[in-house]
Amino acid sequence: MSDTNQIEKVNVLIIGSGPAGYTAAIYAARAGLNPVVYTGAQPGGQLMITTDVENYPGYPDGVMGPQMMQDFEQQARKVGTDVRFGTITKVDFSGTTHKAWVDGKKEIEAHTVILSTGAEAKWLGIESEQRLNGNGVSACAVCDGFFFKGKNVAVVGGGDTAAEESLYLSNLCPEVNLLVRRDEMRASKIMQDRVKNTKNINIHWNTETVEILGDQVVDGVKVVNNKTEEVSTLPIEGFFVAIGHKPNSDFLRGWLDMDEAGYVKTKLGSTHTNIKGVFAAGDLQDKIYRQAVTAAGTGCMAALDAERYLGEEGLI
Ligand code: NDP
Repeated sequence: MSDTNQIEKVNVLIIGSGPAGYTAAIYAARAGLNPVVYTGAQPGGQLMITTDVENYPGYPDGVMGPQMMQDFEQQARKVGTDVRFGTITKVDFSGTTHKAWVDGKKEIEAHTVILSTGAEAKWLGIESEQRLNGNGVSACAVCDGFFFKGKNVAVVGGGDTAAEESLYLSNLCPEVNLLVRRDEMRASKIMQDRVKNTKNINIHWNTETVEILGDQVVDGVKVVNNKTEEVSTLPIEGFFVAIGHKPNSDFLRGWLDMDEAGYVKTKLGSTHTNIKGVFAAGDLQDKIYRQAVTAAGTGCMAALDAERYLGEEGLI
C-alpha cells in the first residue's frame, strides 16, 4: 500500500467550523491534542451569512459575522489547529476508534470526535426573502432585533421560536405582526398565552406570505388570508422568519441518539453523546439558545470532555 492510501489517525477530529468547532479546536490545540478541523461546505457556519454581531462579548463596537469567524479561524490556526476544507459525509462509530470519511473518499480514524455541524434556519423559499436577506429579512430576532428598535416588524411562524421571537421584538418594536398559516399555533400553551396577552403583538391567523416588499430594504409584506383569499399589505421594516431549524445531522443518523427533529442528545451538563469518545457541541445539540456565545461555550466543554476521555482511556 502506498503512503497516500494509508489511513490517517488523529486524536481529536472536529467536524464543523462555527463558533463551537473553532472554540473546541482552540482548547484542544492548546492542550497539545493536535486537533484536525474539517470545515464543512460553509466554513464559518451560520455567522457567515449574518451582518453585524453586537451581542458577542469582547467586541464593544460589534463585528461583522464573517470577520468574527475569520478571527476564530485565525486563533485556532495560531495555536496549532490543522484546519482543512472538506465535508465529512459518513461516519462509523461501531468500534473503539471512530471512522470518518471526507467527501466520500479519504478515511480518517480518530480517538475522539467533536461534532459541531450546527443547524440551518428553514426559509420560506420565496425570491424576495433571498433578495432582501440581511436588509430587513432575518431568521434571528435576538441577533438582529436591535436594528429594528422603534420600527414595525412581522414574524412568520406558529411554534415556540416564533412566539419567543415575537415576545422579544415586542419589547423593541411598536407593532409586531405574527403571521400564522393556520387558525392555531403549534407553540406551547404558556408561550401562546404570553403572545396573546401582549398588546403590541397582532396575530394574523390563516395568513401566508406572498411577497416581501422593498427595493433595497424591506418596507412591507404582501400577505394573503388562505380562508378568504383576501390579499393585503402590512407596512413593516423587519421580516423575521421563525419556521424552525434543521440540525445538520443527517450523516450521523443510525449512530447517535437524537430527538425527533434530529438534534443530537447529550448527557445533562456535558457534551457526551451515547457513543464513548464522541461529543457534540453547538447548535447541533441545542434547539433552545442557539447563540454564538453558547455554541462557543459548549465547544470549550467538548474539548475538555475529549481531553479527559483521552486521559482516562490512556490514549494520550
Ligand atoms: P416548530 O417546527 O415547532 O414550528 C414551526 C412553525 O412554523 C409551525 O407553526 C409551522 O406551521 C410554521 N411553518 C412551517 N413552515 C412554514 C411556512 N412555509 N410558512 C408559514 N409557516 C410555516 O419549530 P420551532 O423552531 O418553533 O421549534 C422547534 C422546537 O424547539 C420545538 O420543539 C420547540 O418547542 C422548541 N423550542 C423551545 C423553546 C423554548 O423552550 N424556549 C424555544 C424555541 C424552540 P404549522 O404549525 O402549520 O406546521
